[in-house]
Amino acid sequence: MSESILPNQVLNNFSNSKPLRLPTHLYKVTKDYLKPKDINKIQKAYTFAYYAHDGQTRKDGSAYVSHPIEVAKILADLKMDPDTICSALLHDVLEDCGVQKNSLLQIFGKDVANIVDGVSKLGKIEMQDKAERDANNFQKMALAMAKDVRVILVKLCDRLHNMRTIEWMPRHKQIIKSKETLDMYGPLALRVGMESIRSELEELAFKCIHPLRAKMIESAVLKSSGGRKKIVTKIRKELKSHLKQNNVEGAAVKGREKGVYSIYKKIKTKRKPFSEILDVYGFRILVDSVDDCYRALGIIHNYFKPIENRFKDYIAIPKSNGYQALHTSLLALDAFPIEVQVQTRSMFNSANIGIAAHWGYKTSESSTGLDIKATKWLSSIVDMHKRSDSSSEFVESIKTDLDPNEVYLFSPKGNIFPLKVGATPIDFAYEVHTDLGEKIVGCRVNRKEVPLNIELETGQTVEIITSDTPPPADPSWLNFVVTSKARKGITALLRNQKISAARKAGKLLLESELKRTGHDLNEFRGSSLKRILKSIGTPSLDKLLVDLGLGKKTGNIIAERFYSGLKIRKIEEDNNVDPLKIDDNHIEGVPIVFARCCHPIFGDQVITHSDTERGLVIHNKQCKQIEKRIGRDPRLLETIWLDTNRKHEYIACINVITENRVGVLADMLSIFTKEGINVVNLNTKEIDKRFTGFLIELEVSDKDYLSSIMAKIRAKKFTSSCKRVINKQ
Ligand code: MN
Repeated sequence: MSESILPNQVLNNFSNSKPLRLPTHLYKVTKDYLKPKDINKIQKAYTFAYYAHDGQTRKDGSAYVSHPIEVAKILADLKMDPDTICSALLHDVLEDCGVQKNSLLQIFGKDVANIVDGVSKLGKIEMQDKAERDANNFQKMALAMAKDVRVILVKLCDRLHNMRTIEWMPRHKQIIKSKETLDMYGPLALRVGMESIRSELEELAFKCIHPLRAKMIESAVLKSSGGRKKIVTKIRKELKSHLKQNNVEGAAVKGREKGVYSIYKKIKTKRKPFSEILDVYGFRILVDSVDDCYRALGIIHNYFKPIENRFKDYIAIPKSNGYQALHTSLLALDAFPIEVQVQTRSMFNSANIGIAAHWGYKTSESSTGLDIKATKWLSSIVDMHKRSDSSSEFVESIKTDLDPNEVYLFSPKGNIFPLKVGATPIDFAYEVHTDLGEKIVGCRVNRKEVPLNIELETGQTVEIITSDTPPPADPSWLNFVVTSKARKGITALLRNQKISAARKAGKLLLESELKRTGHDLNEFRGSSLKRILKSIGTPSLDKLLVDLGLGKKTGNIIAERFYSGLKIRKIEEDNNVDPLKIDDNHIEGVPIVFARCCHPIFGDQVITHSDTERGLVIHNKQCKQIEKRIGRDPRLLETIWLDTNRKHEYIACINVITENRVGVLADMLSIFTKEGINVVNLNTKEIDKRFTGFLIELEVSDKDYLSSIMAKIRAKKFTSSCKRVINKQ
């Protein structure tokens, strides 16, 4: 490309020039459906392109600007909106002429600038043979396109014109471009439902890669066409007259010609001999209404014998690219299998130009909905491509319908992740990486922080916030995650947490037992430890500690084994056993649970119960469930509070009896509000006409503080009594 023209010169020439007259064809087509002001804009784009490409030539020797003009023509024939036509005219100016996107933005506005930019970016992606690169590039490509579906339309038409003129390229480039076309652009055109562009692209690419095979098929088609023509004409006439006799007005019946590539594909995929494929005759019946489609179908089924299981109703259930028609196969004239497609004329038109039909000028004002749809299917292509191993599988998968049970989400880096509908940030985190799931502490959706249980929606950008020291996994997560990956991950995490908590609890139990005799677990190691473990019948110390923690084995019995292992006698019980120390909500790093039956709070006399299911549970010593077992159950361990770095808020339960009059509750609640106390639960019970009882659960930091609050309640005139409740029943 020429480098003699600097961008500012382009701009100078452009702004000093009057708008140039549009090439005749482009003018004729656009003036038919666009307003004068739109034509003016297109003229401006043409003028800009003209100066930008000034001096550049195509490989065939023509002025370069002829290429964007041809691309614009194809799009104008599809009746695309003016911005798409402008973008087509300008689609190569960023790439080849050093023009800045900003200039386009200022002169032609945001849409044109973005479309041209998107098309240029796609142009830079050269498809490689290697599958990995291919997938990666494709993803980028789809992302670039997802912003505006018109990028694809321009790109497809750009590629179409380049394929039409591919003979001017060097052979090796012809092959690369043709493979790319078969692998990527054909399926893409199919996905957007642009059937005529798809078949032309594929025919051109196939003929370029396999010129001999194409010729061979062509001549075979030609050879058989003599006899064929007669039969086709005969069947066509029959179909037509049957429809007419039965009052389906204005029906058109056409024989469908198969392209060489579609014949080649059938030979390859169906593994049928050539003659058999050619012997299937295709017909298309075009009518005016949906009603007529079904009537026409009924009529031809009446005269020709339908072949079983070959009927498909794509009118009631359109293909995901919007294609609608009735498909059926029949035996005509008792001998010839025929394939018949019945559709309305507008369905036929839509099938040929696909998404462009929806994006046409008339509907451009209400195009937002379509934009979302387009983004959706683009995401789905990326998804399908990721899953399939080869391009042929990709082509197959791309044909299958979009899965309505999935949502498509973006990572902050722009990668797309498909997930089940209903997926939450936790599902997303596990989908990206197990590590992310295990470390998740929060989530931002489109940069806003959200709870971990919200349902994610297609198109959202999801950023997972992690911590290297996340809090323990929450079993309630299992209630809302939807993917098996997340479910498995959380279950594994909970199991590990339980096992590690049990092992720590077991260690505490055993150590506290051993300490009674002045021994330490560290004294037991090597072969003596092995012998002891063998006598207990457990494979490892780890397993033993877990079993102890889970209550499957009893601490003092195990301790006995340890003593006998060291050949020492258990000395008289020492009453000055080191108690366990509660450090906020842990004991020596083991997370603890505060029993709900007796609501212990900091400052209460407490005891630790090593519970099989729940690990270390702290009870109030006055708890009715525990009281009688103290000193008898080896799983109850003496415990004290540490007064350092306390953060935990404890739930305490109090019972208040007041006079029965209006405003008492509000008055009492105002005490809590002033103190910033969180009321967790409140039950009212009328005792008699004069008194009311309140059972209140509140969050407090310690016993002294609770006492001060209770004193404030008692100080109220209306209060008859205020007591702490240990066991509610
Ligand atoms: Mn181009």
